[in-house]
Amino acid sequence: MDTISCNIPINAEFTVPSRVSRKINPENTIVNVSGVEFGGPGVVIIAGPCAVESEEQLFETGRAVKKSGARILRGGAFKPRSSPYSFQGLGEEGLKLLGEIRKETGMPVVTEVMDTRQIELVSGYADMVQIGSRNMHNYPLLKEAGMCGKPVLLKRGMMATIEEFLLAAEYILHHGNDQVILCERGIRTFETSTRNTLDLSAVPMLKHLSHLPVIVDPSHGTGLRWMVPFMAKAAVAAGADGLIIEVHYNPEKALCDGHQSLSLDEFAGLMTDLDKIALAIGR
Ligand code: PEP
Ligand code: MN
Repeated sequence: MDTISCNIPINAEFTVPSRVSRKINPENTIVNVSGVEFGGPGVVIIAGPCAVESEEQLFETGRAVKKSGARILRGGAFKPRSSPYSFQGLGEEGLKLLGEIRKETGMPVVTEVMDTRQIELVSGYADMVQIGSRNMHNYPLLKEAGMCGKPVLLKRGMMATIEEFLLAAEYILHHGNDQVILCERGIRTFETSTRNTLDLSAVPMLKHLSHLPVIVDPSHGTGLRWMVPFMAKAAVAAGADGLIIEVHYNPEKALCDGHQSLSLDEFAGLMTDLDKIALAIGR
């Protein structure tokens, strides 16, 4: 038995793979990222720059997001860029900087792995490895992530159905790792006014079908700095276990995704508002 047929009224019949299914495992799975728990009563905020650019950029941003209440620091060292001429990330140097700020602040770090050849290197520095949207269908990488010994932040493919997303997570669990966080980050639709269409209905659907924690990325989900706080608040109201938000100490000068990155002050303001939403829904 590998899959469970799951009838969702009105029109959807899902094949939910068994290891990720809530029918098989009704209790929420708690994912523990070096002491920070996802899937429990709290809402956990991950924040930081899209890409690690320099020591100054990472440290100034990291210290500030920690002060505002973020629990985990994000920052890409290996970046999947649409153009080969765009900044590709600092590679191992970026990982070393993440290791240094982790030591200074005590904050766990999450960073993306794009290639099976890098998984040992990346998981040596990261508290949690991220598999990005473009790699959700990279089955060799999913298998390696199942064996890497670190929690995995799995982002929904930009063209993936909920069923395909859960099947990708199933690969990781099947290869020995149940420490998986699902991340809704927007899907491609006919709409062009936003970078992606943030599918917030995925949050209750994923929580309904699976026991894994679900977080939301309103930065890639909208591509618009001004819209990020609205969708971040909506995501928490929709039941997300956490958020991952791009923040930069100088968004205008960012080498990657500055247009969707919050400034340090904007992030601090959002965190205050999120506390109120979390309180209102009993979290
Ligand atoms: C990222 O988090 O920096 C990223 C590239 O996200 P996604 O894979 O969702 O596009
Ligand atoms: Mn980004």
